[in-house]
Amino acid sequence: AGIKPNATTTSVCGFCSTGCGLELHMKDGQAVNLSPAVDWPVNLGMACPKGWESLTILKANDRATQPLLKGADGKLAPVSWDEAMKTFCSRFKDIQAKHGNDSVAFLSTGQIATEEMFFLGALAKFGMGMLHGDGNTRQCMATAVVSYKESFGFDAPPFTYADFEESDVLVFVGSNLCIAHPIMWERVLRNPHDPKIIVIDPRRTETAVAATHHLPLRPKTDMALLYTIANVLIEKGWIEESYIANHTNGFEQFKQHVAPYKLEDSLTNCGLAPSAVMEVIQAIHDGQRVSFWWTMGVNQSHQGVRTAQAIINLALMTGNIGRPGTGANSITGQCNAMGSRLFSNTTNLVGGHEFTNEEHRQKIAGILDIPVANIPTENSWSYDGIMEGIRRGDIRGLWVIATNPAHSWIHQQEAKETFAKLDFLVVQDMYHSTETAVLADLMLPAAGWGEKEGTFINSERRFGLHKKVVPAPGEALADFQIFRLVAHYWGCESMFHQWKTPEDAFQAMKKCSAGQPCDITGIRDYRMLDDARGIQWPTQSDESTGDDWMPASQRRLFEDGQYFHADGKARFIFEQPEAPGEVPNDAFPLRLLTGRGTAAQWHTQTKTSKSAVLRTLYSTTLLVDINPNDADSLLIEPHDWVLVQSARGEIRARANVTSSVQPGHVFLPMHNEVTNQLTYPQFDTYSRQPSYKNAAVRIVKS
Ligand code: SF4
Repeated sequence: AGIKPNATTTSVCGFCSTGCGLELHMKDGQAVNLSPAVDWPVNLGMACPKGWESLTILKANDRATQPLLKGADGKLAPVSWDEAMKTFCSRFKDIQAKHGNDSVAFLSTGQIATEEMFFLGALAKFGMGMLHGDGNTRQCMATAVVSYKESFGFDAPPFTYADFEESDVLVFVGSNLCIAHPIMWERVLRNPHDPKIIVIDPRRTETAVAATHHLPLRPKTDMALLYTIANVLIEKGWIEESYIANHTNGFEQFKQHVAPYKLEDSLTNCGLAPSAVMEVIQAIHDGQRVSFWWTMGVNQSHQGVRTAQAIINLALMTGNIGRPGTGANSITGQCNAMGSRLFSNTTNLVGGHEFTNEEHRQKIAGILDIPVANIPTENSWSYDGIMEGIRRGDIRGLWVIATNPAHSWIHQQEAKETFAKLDFLVVQDMYHSTETAVLADLMLPAAGWGEKEGTFINSERRFGLHKKVVPAPGEALADFQIFRLVAHYWGCESMFHQWKTPEDAFQAMKKCSAGQPCDITGIRDYRMLDDARGIQWPTQSDESTGDDWMPASQRRLFEDGQYFHADGKARFIFEQPEAPGEVPNDAFPLRLLTGRGTAAQWHTQTKTSKSAVLRTLYSTTLLVDINPNDADSLLIEPHDWVLVQSARGEIRARANVTSSVQPGHVFLPMHNEVTNQLTYPQFDTYSRQPSYKNAAVRIVKS
């Protein structure tokens, strides 16, 4: 307050995948305040409360400012970076010497810069000899990755945000856009075509309330509903036969598969009146530009991949893809989930290459000038496989970077018991107080957004630059610098000698992307990214017409009907719906749904809880949503304290009696540290993404 800025700069927001531009107001080289950037093609001058509070959360008292090492008394105590690095490397090397290189692993994140992910994956796998490392994007986006790869031939969300404004029908499946992606929702509200908004969600969410059609289906019946919609469209001939013939494979088999899904069975199959489903089908048919959107309600499901592909199938069969206002569009969650998906070297080799493909290994080894023998020939275990590996004793050292699995992993008690089995746990984070950091043997203090530079890739595939606008506290270092230190102390520094700055790493990433669908060779440098207010992939060098060339500010995939499979065609992929592994029963008769609680909260609240403004925008008391009918039968009054119990745990909450949940369902926000004590550990077969939104519980008065 009272400080008059004397300069401004811009940066992309570091919270969510929307990728809003922020204007930083600077005084003598340091940011003192911020406001939404008005000339940013993403947010058009808007920001949500989290974005506005981006600087506040950097000043929290629990910022990690020194490396901390657990002593003989079991307590973390400050040590120098030199001692921290020597201890880290010697402990991990000792474990590898006794148990093999694969006995140490890492869990990464969608929160750090793309260049940092790229460096981490290269360092851990090519330099330190690890095989196993995964990202927390396994918890949010793995389903979309697999569904796109199988259907389109590459992990390729096709849309651009302008599609929100150009559709005349928008179908949201398992997405509470209004809360989870408020600026994207603002863009829907700016749509000038008076669009029909269809929401498919068991809850009457904020987005459902604003919709023209809400289908409150029974949880986990999405596939049956989507197949019913497909079958009716086929029966009525409301499909684009020429598009199907020219640009897809597998339609005839799909047609036979969905034939048994009759409209009149909607009530039995999904709990929906056939007339309500028919209204939606009619709206899809009547629309000239229909866009389909999904997020965690689909991704975090035991059949998430096939459900996402049921959505993709609808877009393909109606020709609603590759045109303005259309698409089968997965919305990501974290600020850099897309960076993790394509450039992190976790389960994919950088730039969407494959570890199991010799040609790809040779190509990347050549570009990065590293021995090809240093690139693993196998894929990493996925996150749940790494957790199982720890339980079996196969993995004994773990490096966790910018994520909080002791809070966020499904079936929390089991996760905490799993981490307790490790010989050595290293946690690298901005805050020393997270549920995972307090378990660490070694804690490395990391700089946060605003204290370092790099790029994020948002939901519409746009690279955006974030900048250093304030100093990091104490001895905290940018993750990029921590990785350089680890490389030095490990003895593999020479392998990465060309990557002195994030922009050096960006230039290396560019080379790795050449010829791939995510080709970014046309992005000259950070300056170009800054001037353009972000650039979407692909942007190829051969598009450039000179040093002043700038790509179009909005780019959509598949406008030519060409997909990334060898034959250029997309695939119809489908499967039989199956019941989830746990269903309500006599002992636990209610179904627990989880999700984002408010637009002011984020993930495990490691950041949002640090802002007094954000804390006033949500209830700090845990509320469990319960339908009035269930509350009546359990003699529960509004705001009563209740116990929510599952076969795995018990938590205490206040009853929020509301018809936003159906009878037989309850809802808890995921942000609270106890919600995952109840969740049931089931995973999608193909993506290994946890199914967070389904557990059997009961409620008793506390
Ligand atoms: Fe930041 Fe996401 Fe909010 Fe935009 S919508 S200001 S990117 S948190």
